[in-house]
Amino acid sequence: GSTIGILGGGQLGRMLALAAAPLGLRVHIFEPGADCPAAQVVDACTTAPYEDEDALRAFAQTCDVVTYEFENVPTAALDLIESLVPIRPNRRALAVSQDRIAEKEFLQGIGLNVAPFAAVDDAASLEQAVTTLGTPSILKTRRFGYDGKGQARISDATLPEVTAPSVLEGFVDFTAEISVIGARGLDGATVCFDPGQNVHLDGILHTTTVPAPLPRNLQTDAVLIAGRILNALDYVGVMGVELFVTPQGLIVNEIAPRVHNSGHWTQDACVTDQFAQHIRAVAGWPLGDGQRHSDAVMLNLIGTDADDWAQFAAEPASALHLYGKSECRPGRKMGHVNRITARSR
Ligand code: ATP
Ligand code: MG
Ligand code: MG
Repeated sequence: GSTIGILGGGQLGRMLALAAAPLGLRVHIFEPGADCPAAQVVDACTTAPYEDEDALRAFAQTCDVVTYEFENVPTAALDLIESLVPIRPNRRALAVSQDRIAEKEFLQGIGLNVAPFAAVDDAASLEQAVTTLGTPSILKTRRFGYDGKGQARISDATLPEVTAPSVLEGFVDFTAEISVIGARGLDGATVCFDPGQNVHLDGILHTTTVPAPLPRNLQTDAVLIAGRILNALDYVGVMGVELFVTPQGLIVNEIAPRVHNSGHWTQDACVTDQFAQHIRAVAGWPLGDGQRHSDAVMLNLIGTDADDWAQFAAEPASALHLYGKSECRPGRKMGHVNRITARSR
């Protein structure tokens, strides 16, 4: 059988590994941190830093293909792995999504709408950008941001200090946030899951609802946008595309070159979920049936001081997914629950 290598052993790596098992595929995780959620469910897990070339080489030599569950893998590590085994999704997809400005320029280049933006590197360029884009606006670091980290809302004359290469984005007055989880196979076939509507709390995804309460034409537009991005990148694997819904149409917020939190609902509402779809794609298999057979609401379980996950296990028509994290910290993603609200087909 084949072995899929996964860079990163968080909950996404864990759920990818769980989806690989029924396809008879083995998974080898590479993760710098000890006690990662994915290690509990796989036979092979290498615990080493991305700078450890011997460990990377030994890891890659056991794999038929390598994929990743997060987008900030150091370039040198990727170069070494790619000299031994294919990386899917490809390096361009990774490079584009690692840098918010490269991402926006790419999206504009294929004719898609993004928020108005300007590069910011110091106090002077920030002042210039605020003059151009106005307030409110949002200052984001170009790289490494997630869950709203590294972002500052700018609403008046007091400007924050610029501590990293950044981008200023004009504030989008959206009526809703949606996302499309799309997949593209090695043969170029694309399959998109239905768009979900996302609600964030404190910068972290809170719920995803399918179907999104949106007109049919907007849902179709969103799926077409995802397909255009997948094809333009000659992409292989699953991608998350976050969009703002505005009265003027759809604006792409950002893309993630991996399985996505807002696609977790597919585990219990589709025959082939996003994790199985990603494994199929990177392994060169035909894509599966991503049609939605149920309506669902995904609720993220974020760590607090007093957590009782058993209450969710007792709910009817719901599926509890816990990540096996030993330490529960406030704001940490501990699990999610998929509540089935109706059977659609
Ligand atoms: P993720 O965990 O999704 O990767 P992130 O840190 O990359 O998050 P963004 O997706 O850029 O952050 O922004 C987080 C949230 O902040 C968005 O989902 C949206 O609610 C809000 N937001 C971001 N950019 C804008 C904008 N230009 N206008 C209005 N709201 C915005
Ligand atoms: Mg992001
Ligand atoms: Mg986001």
